[in-house]
Amino acid sequence: MSVRDEFDAWAADGRDKGMEERHWHTAKHVLARMPVEDGDAVLDLGTGSGYALRALAENTGMTRGYGLDGAPEMAHNAREYTREADPAADLGFVIGDFGSLPFDDDSLDHAFSMEAFYYSADPVETLREIRRVLKPGGTFYCAVNYYEENVASHEWQDNIAVDMTRWDAAEYRAAFREAGLYVAEQDNVADREIEIPDADEFPTENWETREAMVERYRYLGTLLTVGVAP
Ligand code: SAH
Repeated sequence: MSVRDEFDAWAADGRDKGMEERHWHTAKHVLARMPVEDGDAVLDLGTGSGYALRALAENTGMTRGYGLDGAPEMAHNAREYTREADPAADLGFVIGDFGSLPFDDDSLDHAFSMEAFYYSADPVETLREIRRVLKPGGTFYCAVNYYEENVASHEWQDNIAVDMTRWDAAEYRAAFREAGLYVAEQDNVADREIEIPDADEFPTENWETREAMVERYRYLGTLLTVGVAP
């Protein structure tokens, strides 16, 4: 199935907002670390509902944001939510693929991506594209919940018709470097908000033990890799 077919269906049944709610637990901490300055232009790869750009527009002096997504229904919903929010920055939603970014060389200050990068058909090529469109010193904040060390995430691929790349933290660093980005930082951003039931409520529908759930959310959380364009 194509990215478009898979994720148009997600947008149509409200999973864009469902993801926003869950991803916000850690995405907000990642966004808060981004060195966005007044006048900056920011790219959000696989924007979904577009919440990341709206949050940056509310909390920084950025002036332009581009939310790129391969699913037209996602971009459509993101535009609607953004119209309602009426942000101070100029936010646009673009339909496109991670394989070929529709931006000029050295044209963007920073890029962000939450739970989307690993859907790329060729992730190293996507990193090269990100490097190309970033200005020297521009950063890419790449956040994923699906990765090798997060064993609980491995089964997600069974329910998604788009092939997902499952790297470990070292493979993320190596791929960033292969694509010509410096690795400035890598971190696990804990989800401190998801409710973890008391021990006597385990096993639950999704978790055998409380320890496994604590490890998944409070310790592993979201894997963040930060790349800097030379
Ligand atoms: N960042 C949002 C959405 C995550 S879902 C959030 O945190 O909730 C992943 C998104 O990436 C989907 O909207 C999907 O359509 C988009 N996507 C996946 N593969 C893509 C590709 N190859 N090119 C462009 N967009 C893609």
